[in-house]
Amino acid sequence: MITLPTYDDVVAAAGRIEGYAHKTPVMQSSILNRELGAEVFFKCENLQRMGAFKFRGAFNALSLLDESQRKRGVIAFSSGNHAQGIALAASLLGIPATIVMPLDAPKAKRAATEGYGAKVVEYDRYNQSREDITRELADKFGYTIVPAYDYAPVIVGQGTAAKELIEEVGELDAMFVPLGGGGLLAGCALATRALSPACKIYGVEPQAGNDGQQSFRSGSIVKISTPKTIADGAQTPSLGQINFSIIQRDVSDIYTATDEQLVESMAFFASRMKLIVEPTGCLGLAAVRANTDSLRGKRIGIIISGGNVDLDNYSRLLAKFASQKD
Ligand SMILES: *Cc1c(COP(=O)(O)O)cnc(C)c1O
Repeated sequence: MITLPTYDDVVAAAGRIEGYAHKTPVMQSSILNRELGAEVFFKCENLQRMGAFKFRGAFNALSLLDESQRKRGVIAFSSGNHAQGIALAASLLGIPATIVMPLDAPKAKRAATEGYGAKVVEYDRYNQSREDITRELADKFGYTIVPAYDYAPVIVGQGTAAKELIEEVGELDAMFVPLGGGGLLAGCALATRALSPACKIYGVEPQAGNDGQQSFRSGSIVKISTPKTIADGAQTPSLGQINFSIIQRDVSDIYTATDEQLVESMAFFASRMKLIVEPTGCLGLAAVRANTDSLRGKRIGIIISGGNVDLDNYSRLLAKFASQKD
């Protein structure tokens, strides 16, 4: 049996990140509210430091390391935002960081990771095991491995996003959270259960990689090969163990969204709300727009998880969408 983190751990994490992480704004769109006949509150983690909620978990995890661990340094593997979160948190805390990153990671994410002073080691995500490479380097140099999602200090750090949202706007009827490995969803579930016990919690993942939905509905963790989707922050092959236990207990269901739906939401954020949101950050809104009937009259929280885009990729997706519309 694994001991699951609790809401008290989320509260402790909130204390550690205070003054380091931004308390991100909560935004609303009157057009969307009118269209849905509901009240939607967006928690804008695209405006978090380094552009995604991952800074929360990373900073909390690194804050918990002892003096000798800090001296030897940390290592993480990530397709992007966890890498940047670790790199920034490490530089703020004076800890050396190494990041194992796929060859095809978005350019902006890699450049930002190196910009924060982390060392990047590349691998081929379709053929090589990032876990093996990471473990080898950790053994050789004494680095502490900081997992991206299956790790209690990371989970409870991510949960501070939902804690802030509910503390600001009050209790909700439904909460929609992007889902990759489940760190954000599990952490937000802990906070939501405690602060808004009647609220239904939903995870949303890319349709091409619906391992989370399969796992949730079958009752055991399903592993898939790396899905091809524009939602690069949710290309995880399976849920983490700790994450799955919390998700099974606290989450109502897992929805999926197609790449096309993500682009549609991305265009909505850009044109209506003046927000740059990366495809993975659009999962929550995409699911809400696909389930409007059951959400009428409700108070809905949506976590916008990140805003890190390659500008050429972002503009190409939006231009294609705009030309299809007229
Ligand atoms: C990492 C990430 C996710 C998924 O988070 P998990 O904790 O792996 O489920 C969602 N959106 C963005 C922008 C991310 O960087």
